[in-house]
Amino acid sequence: MSTNERRASLKDKRRIVIKIGSSSLQHQETGDLDYIRLEKLVRELCDICNQGKEVILVSSGAIAAGRQTMAAKDMKGDNEIAVKQALSAIGQAKLMMVYQKLFSEYSHVAAQILMTKNTIVDDLNRYNAKNTFMELLKLGAVPIVNENDTVATYEIEIGDNDTLSAIVAALTDADLLILLSDIDGLYTDDPRTNPEAEFIPLVEQLSESHFHMGKSSTGSGVGTGGMNTKMTAARIATSTGTDMIIANSKDIGILHRLLNGSEEGTLFLANKDESFDLVGFVEGLHK
Ligand code: GLU
Repeated sequence: MSTNERRASLKDKRRIVIKIGSSSLQHQETGDLDYIRLEKLVRELCDICNQGKEVILVSSGAIAAGRQTMAAKDMKGDNEIAVKQALSAIGQAKLMMVYQKLFSEYSHVAAQILMTKNTIVDDLNRYNAKNTFMELLKLGAVPIVNENDTVATYEIEIGDNDTLSAIVAALTDADLLILLSDIDGLYTDDPRTNPEAEFIPLVEQLSESHFHMGKSSTGSGVGTGGMNTKMTAARIATSTGTDMIIANSKDIGILHRLLNGSEEGTLFLANKDESFDLVGFVEGLHK
C-alpha cells in the first residue's frame, strides 16, 4: 500500500481515541483555560461524531485548571501529593463543566471516566470499565477520560495521559489513536535542540531506534508527556492493533484533515502482537 493510500484509509476509521494535553488547553502566558481552543476541539469532535464515528477524548488539564482556580489562595507545599490531589478534584470538575457545556451546545453529551492502574490490572474493574465505555459509545455519548488524580499516588498511577490514551485505545479496541501535541510528530532527534533533526512521517514497524529518538521531555512546562511517553503509547497501540498518529495541536482543525487523509504528523502502523500482555505491561509501569 502506498503512503497516500495508507493515509486515505484513515477515512474509514470508526472508533477514534484523541488525546489532548494541558499545554494545548491553556494560555501559555496565564495558565488560564483557552476557551477558543476548547471550543474548536469540541466542534471538531462533534463533527466526527456526526459522521457516524465514535470518539473518546483523553483530556489532561485537571491539575492545571485546579491550580489556576485556586491561584489566589496561599497553597503551602504546592507540590505535595495531597495538594495536587485536591487541585485535581477542583480542576477536573471545572474542566468537565466546560466540556459538558460546549458539547451540549452542539447537542452532544459528554461523560466522564476516571482511571488508575487498578482499572486495568484488576479483572473486575477492567471488565466494568470496558462495559461502561461500550455502553456510552452505544448511547452516542463522548467519554472524556483522565487519570483519577484525586486518588492516584505513585503506586497506582499510570502517570501520563499519552500512556493512558493508548491503554484506553487497547481496552476499547479502537481503530485509531491521535496524540495531539506541541510537536509536529516524531523526529530523528529533538528538533528544539538539534536543527539537523529529520521528520519521520511514517513508522511501519516500531524498533529500538525509535525509542532512542524519543528521549526528550515535554517542551511546555505543563503536563507530563514528552516524546518518550509517546513512544510507550506507540508500543501499546501498535502491539494491540491500533494505528497511532502524533500531530501538532497548534491548529485543532488538523483533526478533520487527518481523518480526510491529509499527510500530516507521524503515522505509526498497527502491528498486532498476540503475545503482548496489556495487563502485565500496565502492572509493570513504574516498577
Ligand atoms: N492527569 C493530569 C491532569 O489532568 C495530566 C497528565 C498528563 O498531562 O499527562 O492534570
